[in-house]
Amino acid sequence: MTISTVQTNLRVVERKTSEGIVPLPEAELVVSAGRGMKGPENWAIIEDLAVALGATTACSRPVADSGWRPHHEHVGQTGVAIRPNLYIAAGISGAIQHLAGVNNSKVIVVINKDPEAPFFKAADYGVVGDLFDIVPKLTAAIKRFKHI
Ligand SMILES: Cc1cc2nc3c(=O)[nH]c(=O)nc-3n(C[C@H](O)[C@H](O)[C@H](O)COP(=O)(O)OP(=O)(O)OC[C@H]3O[C@@H](n4cnc5c(N)ncnc54)[C@H](O)[C@@H]3O)c2cc1C
Repeated sequence: MTISTVQTNLRVVERKTSEGIVPLPEAELVVSAGRGMKGPENWAIIEDLAVALGATTACSRPVADSGWRPHHEHVGQTGVAIRPNLYIAAGISGAIQHLAGVNNSKVIVVINKDPEAPFFKAADYGVVGDLFDIVPKLTAAIKRFKHI
């Protein structure tokens, strides 16, 4: 059998899924949420924020284990390791196994109602408050800023 190689000038400049979403390992902007979301029915506010930013969505492991989100969105020690420019985490406590997959993010923004949540120690910016109040306000502010 003869195997030949063909050289071309083709170069991959961008990779997107069929839905136009950048896969998590390559995403520069990630919006992630955890058990603080209370249930899968509340995820629209996370998706709205991700769409406004042009970000990819992620989640903590228990969220995927509970079937609230697909497993390919689970980040951390046993999930996808990411290194985006911006990681926004809402309702995630910041367990060491979660941080293992996200602590190479350039800027980490944490939204948590518990001021003692461990994630605040790893955060560049922290918002102490109810994510159901904060996230829609953040989305609205980004839409105003981007005129969308
Ligand atoms: C071997 C092993 C491997 C693991 N691997 C991973 C992994 O890869 N990835 C991973 O994520 N986990 C992993 N885990 C699990 C990890 O230890 C934590 O249990 C998990 O990360 C917690 O998920 P969570 O932060 O979503 O939930 P929780 O710990 O329940 O935290 C929920 C947070 O939401 C906040 N909250 C609640 N309501 C609101 C509200 N209305 N507004 C704002 N904040 C709110 C709470 O204050 C709390 O901080 C692993 C565990 C083990 C033992």
